[in-house]
Parts: sequence; C-alpha cells; structure tokens
Amino acid sequence: MVIEQPRVLCVGAHAADFAARCAGALAHYASKGCAVKVACWSFGERGESADSWLNNPGIDAEGVKTIRRQEAGDAAKALGVDIEFLNFGDHPCEVTAGRLEKLVSVMRQFRPDLLLIHWTHDPYNTDHAIIGEACIKAYRMAKGPGVNPGEEQLHFPDVYYMEGSLPLSEHSRFIPTYYVDITETFQQKTECMRQLKSQLFMEVRYRQLAEFRAAQIRSFTGNQGIQYAEAFARFTPWSGNTLPLFERQTVRKFSY
Ligand SMILES: [Zn+2]
Repeated sequence: MVIEQPRVLCVGAHAADFAARCAGALAHYASKGCAVKVACWSFGERGESADSWLNNPGIDAEGVKTIRRQEAGDAAKALGVDIEFLNFGDHPCEVTAGRLEKLVSVMRQFRPDLLLIHWTHDPYNTDHAIIGEACIKAYRMAKGPGVNPGEEQLHFPDVYYMEGSLPLSEHSRFIPTYYVDITETFQQKTECMRQLKSQLFMEVRYRQLAEFRAAQIRSFTGNQGIQYAEAFARFTPWSGNTLPLFERQTVRKFSY
C-alpha cells in the first residue's frame, strides 16, 4: 500500500535540531497537507543556548527555556508544523524508563508513517546519539502491548536517520544514502533557522551543507536544478514491489 500523505514525526534532542537537519523536508510534507510534528526531548537550555545565557546576565535555566520555547515555536510555525516540548533536560540527556514510556506515548498518539531520528554516533555532542538510541528503543517498545497497557500499539514506521552535527559531520561517520531536494522549501528552512536567535550560526553552516549535498546529488541525477538538499540514511529496510530510483531531470526509458 502506498501512503499518499505520510504522517511525519521528527524527534530532536534539543529545540533547534530539527531546523538544521530536516526543516526543508518537513516543510515539503507540510505543504502537501501531511500531518507533521516535531518532538523536542529538551530545550537545549544547558548545552545549546549559549547566546541566551551570554546576552541575558543573571538569567536562570527556566528563563532560557522560555526563550527557547518561543524561538522553536516560531521556527516550527515558519514550516507550518506542530511542535511539542518534553522538557527532559540536556547536557546530559538522561534516558529513564519513564521518559522512554512518555516517548512511546508521543509516537502512539501521533502515529507516524515516517519517523526522523538522530544518527546514533556523535562523539562531540553525545546528547544526539543518546536520543537517537532512545528513539530506536521507543519505536520498538511502541509495538508491544505490554508497554503502557491500554494505548493502541504502533506498527513499525519507516525510520530515517538525520545527518550528524556540523561542522564535524564526518567525524560521526555519517554516510548519506538518501537525499531530499529542498530547493523549493529552502527559503522556509532559512526563515525557520532565523527564528532560533540563540543559535544564529546555524544559517550559514547549514546553507553551506545544503549546497554541498545538492552538488553531490546533481552528480548522480544530472538534475542541475537541485540547489539545496538534505541528507538522510535509512534505519528500517526498504520494502516494495520495485526498488526506488532517482528522480532524474529527464526520465530514461528502460528495457527489462
Ligand atoms: Zn542538538
């Protein structure tokens, strides 16, 4: 069965992770009328909000959370997607049984067809890897009727890893296997990143990455119209009547 309008859930360790890694893809799905949601494990209040602390002397963690909630909410609005904050803390992200069960409930209530999670090796920001692993645990738990009894079980969604942190992505040994052309939604991604005023460095970094990923995929597809792209890797195996093909500039005729 082909799902025409997949429900899309992205789980990030921190408030801004979705913006850098998959905002273009999320905006595309939202523009097609798909239900799209971002769940943030934390606000990134301790480890990814330096400007909020430095620009507001005397501020405490709760004050930083308020700033980040507003920024990330505005960033999600720029894409037309929903956002939920679990407020489980960061640096370190600590995964307990109770927090995993809450993540299971989030997945079961939203019922994603497509789940975007962190790459599970990130030596310089282990929060991302920890939450990537937590998502794999939770998506498996969501299938079991004995977990949170009474909730409707969730069959396995398609799971893709998002790209690791910049500027050290290759240190995380991330090798893309799927690219999404985000040329049409790149302006929305830019607007999204600009809302995250505590991490304004993101815009330049992730524009450069999107241009680089686009150059890579142009070389495969021959489609010179691809200016910006996001990269992913599959966790769950592909299954279908056919194998996926590039979306090429011109459709070639194949003989079998
Ligand atoms: Zn992060």
